[in-house]
Amino acid sequence: MPAADNNAPNQTDLDALRERYRIERERRTPRKGERRYRDIDDGFAHLAVDPYATPLERAALHDAVDVLIIGGGFGGLLAGARLREAGVQRTRIVEAGADVGGTWYWNRYPGAACDIESYIYLPLLEETGYMPVERYSKAAEIRAHAQRVARHFRLYDDACFSTQVTSLDWDASQACWIVGTNRGDRMSARFVMLTTGPLNRPKLPGIRGVERFRGHAFHTSRWDYACTGGSATEPLTALAGKRVGIIGTGATAIQCVPPLAQSAEHLYVFQRTPSSVDRRDNAPTDPAWVAALPEGWQRQRIESFTAQLSGNLAIPDLVADGWTVLARAMRAMLARDPTADPSALLERADLEKMVQVRANIEATVRDTATAEALKPWFSLFCKRPCFHDNYLAVFNRPNVTLVDTRGRGVEEITEKGVVVAGREYPLDCLIFATGFEVGGDVAARSGFSIHGVNGLTLAEKWSEGMSSLHGMHTRGFPNCLLVGPAQSGMSPNFPHMLDEQARHAAHLIAHCLRAGVRTEEPTAEAENAWVATILSLGESRRRFLESCTPGYYNAEGHDSEALARSLPFGAGPEVFVDLLRKWRAAGNFAGLELNGAHAGPTKENHEP
Ligand code: NAP
Repeated sequence: MPAADNNAPNQTDLDALRERYRIERERRTPRKGERRYRDIDDGFAHLAVDPYATPLERAALHDAVDVLIIGGGFGGLLAGARLREAGVQRTRIVEAGADVGGTWYWNRYPGAACDIESYIYLPLLEETGYMPVERYSKAAEIRAHAQRVARHFRLYDDACFSTQVTSLDWDASQACWIVGTNRGDRMSARFVMLTTGPLNRPKLPGIRGVERFRGHAFHTSRWDYACTGGSATEPLTALAGKRVGIIGTGATAIQCVPPLAQSAEHLYVFQRTPSSVDRRDNAPTDPAWVAALPEGWQRQRIESFTAQLSGNLAIPDLVADGWTVLARAMRAMLARDPTADPSALLERADLEKMVQVRANIEATVRDTATAEALKPWFSLFCKRPCFHDNYLAVFNRPNVTLVDTRGRGVEEITEKGVVVAGREYPLDCLIFATGFEVGGDVAARSGFSIHGVNGLTLAEKWSEGMSSLHGMHTRGFPNCLLVGPAQSGMSPNFPHMLDEQARHAAHLIAHCLRAGVRTEEPTAEAENAWVATILSLGESRRRFLESCTPGYYNAEGHDSEALARSLPFGAGPEVFVDLLRKWRAAGNFAGLELNGAHAGPTKENHEP
């Protein structure tokens, strides 16, 4: 059991709180040469195998499509849907999983759910005529919705599942991409869209001896129900009588710890940094509320949420949940003092919110030392905020032990179990809730090589850090659309930004196909100017991240030029969306070089 913390600062003394945050950050800052994580291909490829797929045999494909979309998660589905709406028919989704769903295909761990409100998270609700059954959807409902979108927009036609893209090679003579896969395919595509998602590759902790454990071990994104029994919503019956350990206390662990605690004989939760865990308050969807919704309600609700997260306090907060809490607090403070400095108000709102989060832990967890160890000492948005109504109370159960490592992490894994502070915890089953590879070269992270003009690789081009126009185009890689938050819009409601990028790409691709444009790529000037914008607008975000406890948001505390260059657009997602809309409306494809027939300016405006 962790020792009680006698150094807790006075919760109203802002300087003391800032100092406590600094001490906690220092405690977790990696030591020189410390390897925080280990690549799953470094001896653990068996932990990345798809446990949900049944074997599939098919002949290799050697055909041609207009647009090949790599990834069948919401990014790929939205791209496919918006392309269909823009009149593009010859599209193909290629996906490593055996079905659509992306992150919701892979993450089927017990308790998996989305803590972004379902009415804004599940895309295309009005288009598909679906309404989620509750305010925060469980994973199975989200996966079923991904399938609904695929059926509605005929995206299963021509899709390739259980297929890993291995190479993308630009063929300048034909102005197309040659796409190789692990099934021997060699397809050609006039355009490719990389919608592989920022969190698609599981990683393991860089703990000494991680390969030695002889019990059953797996990563949360490849849940081994053969080992645990049960399902995402039913008791894990095979864990009766078993000692189970879970390493990690991020958003995934917060959700699967309660069901593990219910079924295991004993559960050990190994913690390096506690998450901020606030109440979620789920509820069934109210039919009367649904009946009163006007046409266009979903877009309005999505945009309201993004506005709150962008700091636009003039837009009403329609979602009003734990994500928009700081905007609500700032509104109240500004009503009291309209001349106050917004950044000072934001810091105060954040510090006060975290005081509440810690007070809720104290009120819920009976053992004082455990409650102290569960308290997060950092700003709300330093790490991904978590929302769960049962996680904290789990630590009142006699069969659950929090093994707090006081910021240093698990020190060793042995054949029998996990070692912390010199004590070995013997285990039958060890679960890695240690997250996903983040950042770097999207192609390498997604398991394929890419060669653009004159054989240039993305790793070569980005050796000094990312460079793009709008995070979506990069010179030397024509007709290749990148989709993701780096140098682009970023909202915790991921599907919103995916949709904006999908609309943008569909607009451009539909124009190129209609007008006979052979290639599009950004000019060097436009790309340099965008990188300069990202760097200058990202300065305050970078300073904020520097003040944060290490994690994947700040490259584990390693501030670097590469991190600064892969930050999202710093003026916020709402401004980014507006910028893309105006760019499309202008009709001159500013900053892009369009080569081939009818490549010039256009006044057409196809907003799907
Ligand atoms: P994560 O946030 O990256 O968490 C990894 C965890 O492993 C952290 O708690 C980390 O501790 C811990 N860890 C790593 N090495 C360790 C060691 N040696 N000893 C002890 N602990 C160690 O991964 P995740 O929880 O899978 O979440 C990833 C992302 O998925 C989330 O941020 C979110 O974007 C998404 N997600 C979303 C939902 C949703 O509701 N929509 C649900 C789940 C996940 P430190 O914090 O100290 O590094």
